[in-house]
Amino acid sequence: TDTDTADEAVRATCDDATTCKRFATSKGYWKDPYIQYFARNVGERKAPEINRGYYARVHGVNHLLDAFIRKTECDCQVINLGAGLDTTFWRLKDENIMPRKFFEVDFPTIVARKIHNIKTKPPLSKPIIETHSTDSLLLDAHSLDSDRYCIIGADLRDISNLDEKLKKFQLNPELPTLFLSECVLVYMTPSQSSNLIHWAAETFHTAMFINYEQVNMSDRFGQVMIENLQRRQCTLAGVEACQSLDSQKERFLKAGWEHADALDMMTIYSMLPQDDVARIERLEFLDERELLQQLLQHYSICWATKDKLNLGTVQFHD
Ligand code: SAM
Repeated sequence: TDTDTADEAVRATCDDATTCKRFATSKGYWKDPYIQYFARNVGERKAPEINRGYYARVHGVNHLLDAFIRKTECDCQVINLGAGLDTTFWRLKDENIMPRKFFEVDFPTIVARKIHNIKTKPPLSKPIIETHSTDSLLLDAHSLDSDRYCIIGADLRDISNLDEKLKKFQLNPELPTLFLSECVLVYMTPSQSSNLIHWAAETFHTAMFINYEQVNMSDRFGQVMIENLQRRQCTLAGVEACQSLDSQKERFLKAGWEHADALDMMTIYSMLPQDDVARIERLEFLDERELLQQLLQHYSICWATKDKLNLGTVQFHD
């Protein structure tokens, strides 16, 4: 059916993210010793502005994520929505800032692939076993559940099913909770994503939601981005919320979040530690800075909070 084709195109975007991260890390933009287990080959060359864009995305998101975990002294949980083949769990373990439990949700077929890789690659499975207290670790084709890491196959558009599965795997509504979605909400209709954001706000009293995705999509450059995806049968059903930084913030405030901030990625790029930015800018020659600016102005990070426990707001400059 049309829905199946559309969902399949959305699932394929997970490989884009993985191959771009694989390529950028092979060039030295940042370190990720685990991504190689999810994308065997480095693959074809990506343009320097794409690599810089991924650098800004990874550093920008990690900055906010780590700040939240540190504020809670790791007494929190993380839920990565549409996590794909993301490797954050292993990074947090290596950096000794593991939350009490790290959850991931994606379509069952993506989850099955991820679990297969984990099962067959000891560098991935070892940290999960090490952080687990008993012999009984749930690991079947569509879910993994250990003390500290849980992967769930579910459709994010079906909230009651999502809620039920997360609770079955010991999600704790009383713990400070961080939601992460990177290039995920944009593939859902505005009502589907607002239901998800609303559920998150009403289920947790102390929480933060980090959303990375397209912004400023109504201009010419945005139109070209949409057309490029459509050529691959991929529809940005949620592009309405990607019109501006204000519309990104607004969707959270309307759905019950107390506070929201949003920055475009060019701004974030200019706020990252400039010695490291200078280092990565020397990795590959970029002759058209204009194109980098255009690209980065069309992505944003929006973060929203609810703070009953008074953790204090997480800022970009801490
Ligand atoms: N967040 C990951 C990252 O940054 O590497 C993957 C990003 S990829 C562009 C989008 C992911 O969202 C895909 O893995 C896709 O399967 C997932 N996704 C999109 N819509 C979803 C839905 N309705 N339910 C579950 N997963 C979904």
